[in-house]
Amino acid sequence: MPSIVSIGSGSSGNALLLSAGGSCILVDAGLSRKRIVERMQSLAIDPASLSGVLLTHEHTDHSGACRVLCDSVGIPAYMSTGTYEYLEKNGKTPRKSKVWTFDCGSTFQVGAFSIFPFHVPHDAVDPVGFVIDAGDMRIGVAVDIGMMTSEIERVLSRCETVVLECNYDRDMLGDSPRSDRLKRRIAGPGGHLSNEDCISALRRLVSGATRRVFLAHISAECNRPGLIEHLLEVDEVLHNAASGGVDFHILRREGDNPFEL
Ligand SMILES: [Zn+2]
Ligand SMILES: [Zn+2]
Repeated sequence: MPSIVSIGSGSSGNALLLSAGGSCILVDAGLSRKRIVERMQSLAIDPASLSGVLLTHEHTDHSGACRVLCDSVGIPAYMSTGTYEYLEKNGKTPRKSKVWTFDCGSTFQVGAFSIFPFHVPHDAVDPVGFVIDAGDMRIGVAVDIGMMTSEIERVLSRCETVVLECNYDRDMLGDSPRSDRLKRRIAGPGGHLSNEDCISALRRLVSGATRRVFLAHISAECNRPGLIEHLLEVDEVLHNAASGGVDFHILRREGDNPFEL
C-alpha cells in the first residue's frame, strides 16, 4: 500500500518519506541524519533501500542532512541545477554518492516514482515543488512558497494528494517579536504562504482532483494548528469538502504517523 510519512515539517526541519511499488524516496532531508535514520528504522525501512533523496531547495531546514545521509548509506541525491551549484560551492553536496540534477518541466524517474519538478517563488536559488506519480497515486508537494501562482495551482489541481504550506497567520506574524525586515521577508513573494492564501488555494483545489491535503511547514511562533482547524471549519467550501470525504491533516513539527494512500 502506498504511504506517506512526515518525519518533520517546519523551520526546525523537513523530511517526507514516500513508499510505493516497493520503492521509497525522501523529499527533503532537513533534520539530522540520526533522526531520519531512527524514524525509518522504527518503520522497519532500511535507509539504504531509499531510491534517492530529492531536495526542494538549499535552505538548511530542507537540505541539512542530504550530504551526510546520502554518503553514509550510499544513496543518490536529486536537486535542481541551481540548488546543486549553491550546495556544491558550499561543500554540502554528497561526495561519495551520485548527485543528479534536474530542470523544471522535465519528468524523471526515481525507483517506482515519476517526478515532475515545477518552479515555486521563494528566496532560494532555484526552488521547486514536485508532482510525484507512482501507480495510481499522484502527490503534489509545494512547501516554502511565497505566494500561490497559477502554475502551482494548475499542477496541484491534478493531484489527489497535496502537501501544501500553511505557514503563518498574518496577525500573529504582525504581533510577533520579529524584526520588521524579517516580517516583510516572510510575508513577501519570496517568503512563505499565509493561512489565508493557503485556504483560498485549497478552496479551488478541492473542486479539482484533490481528495487529501496535508497542511505543512506550520510556523511555531506565528501560527497554531487550532487556528487552521477553525479556518477549515468556518470556510463553507472546505467544510462541505470535508463532509464529502476530502481529508485535511495538519502536519506536526515533530513528525506524524504513516498515512496510507
Ligand atoms: Zn523551510
Ligand atoms: Zn526555504
